[in-house]
Amino acid sequence: MKKKNHKYIFVTGGVMSGVGKGIASSSIGKILQSKNYKVNPIKVDPYLNVDAGMMNPTEHGEVFVIDSGLECDQDLGNYERFMDIDLKPDNYMTSGMIYQYVIDKERNLGYKGKCVEAIPHITGEITRRIQKSAEASGADISIIEIGGTVGDYQNVMFIETARILKLKNPDDVIFVLVSYLPIPSTLGEMKTRPTQNAVRNLNSYGVQPEIIIARGAVPLDERRKEKIAVSCNIAVENVISAPDVESIYDVPLNFEKDNLGEIILKSLRLKTKNEKDMKEWSSFVAKVKSTKEEASIAVIGKYFDTGDFVLSDAYISVIEAVKYSAYELGVKAKLTWLNSKDFENGEKEVLMLGDFDGVIVPGGFGESGIEGKLKAIKFARENKIPYLGLCYGMQLAVIEYARNVIGLKDANTTEIDENSKDPVIDIMDGQKKNIEDGKYGGTMRLGAYRAILEKGTIARSAYGKDEVWERHRHRYEVNPDYVKKIESAGLVFSGKSPDGTLMEIAELPRNVHPFFLGAQFHPEFKARPLHPHPLFTEFMKAAIERKKK
Ligand code: GLN
Repeated sequence: MKKKNHKYIFVTGGVMSGVGKGIASSSIGKILQSKNYKVNPIKVDPYLNVDAGMMNPTEHGEVFVIDSGLECDQDLGNYERFMDIDLKPDNYMTSGMIYQYVIDKERNLGYKGKCVEAIPHITGEITRRIQKSAEASGADISIIEIGGTVGDYQNVMFIETARILKLKNPDDVIFVLVSYLPIPSTLGEMKTRPTQNAVRNLNSYGVQPEIIIARGAVPLDERRKEKIAVSCNIAVENVISAPDVESIYDVPLNFEKDNLGEIILKSLRLKTKNEKDMKEWSSFVAKVKSTKEEASIAVIGKYFDTGDFVLSDAYISVIEAVKYSAYELGVKAKLTWLNSKDFENGEKEVLMLGDFDGVIVPGGFGESGIEGKLKAIKFARENKIPYLGLCYGMQLAVIEYARNVIGLKDANTTEIDENSKDPVIDIMDGQKKNIEDGKYGGTMRLGAYRAILEKGTIARSAYGKDEVWERHRHRYEVNPDYVKKIESAGLVFSGKSPDGTLMEIAELPRNVHPFFLGAQFHPEFKARPLHPHPLFTEFMKAAIERKKK
């Protein structure tokens, strides 16, 4: 039998950024999976950063990490969560990666004396990567989300690549434009003109979208659907209404109301093979909508500077992980953001933590707000408030324990105090060299590492197995010289690297504290709507217990 051609869906954004291209791409993936097709999502980012590792989360949102250790855009987190798949490095590329590769190749005589140019060499390299990923994935369909908005200067090469791919494979490539329809308050009417202009813009690159996903505050009415169809040169049923919804997880179901899955399959000349469905997903969404009872969780962080908008992006995986576990247990997690700096001045601010059912200190870097976080951790430990520490939140829990239980007043991480008398968190030799050489990009302990779990601990019983693979992103570690001292003072290292040298999980026994646990890794990167993460679930169980009291 002839092998079927791989199909490509390019998703571009029109009018403005932030209209939900990532969620739209994830939802398309989810729908196609429900129709029994294997999908391969790819994010292409126009910026020149070689990966997302050095980008400030307040500006760019969370840095997501996949198993391989690649630091990437948070959209890969959305893809993994919606499609419940583990992504590979070739599911992500940036202009920086492409240019670096092409320039290195040129330096090595890889182009055999030819003049190296954006077209065809950059576009050729983009195509090579997309096709390589498509092939390696074994999927039927790749969904390639092009970062930025149509009309940007930076993403032109990617759109050009897609155009050429379509030219060569007209039956196997389609374009989806995720556009925005504003409702100016002075008019109170939804306007289609910006979308028409976005399509003209795409047309000027030689690209005609097959499908337009029309984002807006409210559903699109028939009149506007027709208007968009006629002016943008597409079939009216290919204009999909995409109003704001209560939960992002509702988006695939909502798209299906307009038959998006069938339309895509038809445009790609694929058959409908409706053997699967979205039942499990639908019941998750129903739970999200119907759960009323709340548990209140305080998240103590520092990436608050730009207000609430960016905040949720900077910690998106943590937020989602908490929610999934909460829903699994039949409650809604009500998250409150507390700035650690607020705890630093007086003694009374930290008392408010007593009103919460649980406290989380997520990952972070550097000095700012640290003393406030330590105060909060001490309060949670002493007052038996369920505590979950993620990466920095684990390291700080160890420091707090060393200072206040063991009495090592000067205990610290060398990230903050290089001359600490008791560096209970320290940088390992390999990492020291990276910093001395100024090699910051992609050099932390990154990606999936194995941890062995100690019998009889909370971690072991939560996971229900002896070993786990979890994703990392840090430079510092619990200092092996202090492990014995800390353990004999009662803090249990319940997860360790296979050789026993790296501390992966720290916890207090149940008879001492209802739940006090920190993970050196980021469990949030592996939490999925349909598979909540066991550590978050255990934390939420303890929070619900506290709420009952
Ligand atoms: N700053 C700490 C380290 O580099 C923790 C990093 C994190 O929380 N992701 O080790």
